[in-house]
Amino acid sequence: MREGSLEAPIRHPLDWRSADFYDDAKLDAEMRRVFDICHTCRRCFNLCDSFPRLFDLIDESKSGELDTVASADFKRVVDACTLCDMCFMSKCPYVPPHEFNIDFPHLILRYRAVEAKKNGVPAADRALADADRNGKWATLISGAVNWATRRENTMMRGLEEKVAGLDRNAELPKYASKTLEAQAAAHPPMRDESAPAKARKAVLYATCYGDYNDTSIGMSALGVLARNGVETKVVHPACCGMPKLEQGMLDEVAEAARKVAAAFAPYIDQGYDIVAPVPSCALMLKFEWPLILPEDESVKRLAEATFDLSEYVVDIARKEGLAEGMAPLDGGVAFHVSCHSRAQNIGQKGAELLALIPQADVAVVERCSGHGGAWGYKKGNFETAMKVGKPAARQLQNADKKHVVSECPLAGLHIEQVIEALGGETPRPERVGHPIVLMARAYGMASS
Ligand code: SF4
Ligand code: SF4
Repeated sequence: MREGSLEAPIRHPLDWRSADFYDDAKLDAEMRRVFDICHTCRRCFNLCDSFPRLFDLIDESKSGELDTVASADFKRVVDACTLCDMCFMSKCPYVPPHEFNIDFPHLILRYRAVEAKKNGVPAADRALADADRNGKWATLISGAVNWATRRENTMMRGLEEKVAGLDRNAELPKYASKTLEAQAAAHPPMRDESAPAKARKAVLYATCYGDYNDTSIGMSALGVLARNGVETKVVHPACCGMPKLEQGMLDEVAEAARKVAAAFAPYIDQGYDIVAPVPSCALMLKFEWPLILPEDESVKRLAEATFDLSEYVVDIARKEGLAEGMAPLDGGVAFHVSCHSRAQNIGQKGAELLALIPQADVAVVERCSGHGGAWGYKKGNFETAMKVGKPAARQLQNADKKHVVSECPLAGLHIEQVIEALGGETPRPERVGHPIVLMARAYGMASS
């Protein structure tokens, strides 16, 4: 729920193909206009590190106002933003349709797009943002990659910090030895013929993380959907481009949008729903792409056909009912609502999904994890990510449940590391990749 306004926020299309968008003077004027409103308002002081940096710059300036802050210092504010969208979605009363027209995350995105156009994206960041290419080769040699990226491997991590800018202390995602697509092809989901007939057909968009890293999310989703009579296929045409969006690489995000929308169009024609298991990817398909390519009909149709995974399962439960056969879990669940789940404006669908499991004992925590995708791994950001993640990690730890889960797999991984750093008496909870994994367990399915 958003504070300060009862009206639903509106987001304007990004004007990224106009010359004005990249005009330094115009960008600076817009940053000064928005920052000055934020300075007067200050509601977002504790959301992330961007706002404290902005307010410190102003408070420590000669006049104590924005006019004596140098524009070059704005970069510090921009660099701390993870594009979590929480200021826009949950705090700001001045988002459109308000006349102040504040969209702080998209202003940051514009700044990064201008930087990327002017100076190019550093090679290491560009390489890190190519999630498909990285995933394809890393799954082929997953043993070696997982060994080389272990935190305990101090020599390799030192090297990776130097070459790729990955903070040596950040926990990095492991790679699977077989992609989700390969696993699903080897063990195709068998629709349960005894399940109540459903008129649904779904394509599970594998997503990079679901395809190359944690395949338990997709395998669990396939199992649960099959058990509920939904015919499901796994497709991964390409990365949604979120890592490139973070770098301001808007041309390449648009290219990904066109490619993925074209690949899903024939399925949508045949009546398939598109289901995205990772909230950031769902957010891209549903909201960011249509703002980047507002004239593209395939992108628009895809946005309308796309469901977040938790949203989809809850929709089945509401409209047709879920198949019987779930047993209670072996303990309670501390559930973290990720920022990009909140940014989809669909309510706490992950918590609703968990509540469908018999006798579910769920504690909900709605604070930013602080990780921000690849942003949080990077040297210079990791310490900030740990600091920002502390309140969420503390609340999840204090919930004292057996399991801890976030729909965002990277947020979950980061929170696990913050909980570890906090220490304390409470036993460390077991992290699972997504609430669907727990639902699959409740149905008696093993997720790989
Ligand atoms: S999008 Fe998130 S990280 Fe960026 S300024 Fe807003 S709240 Fe802070
Ligand atoms: S983004 Fe909106 S709510 Fe946050 S400080 Fe700026 S004006 Fe205030």
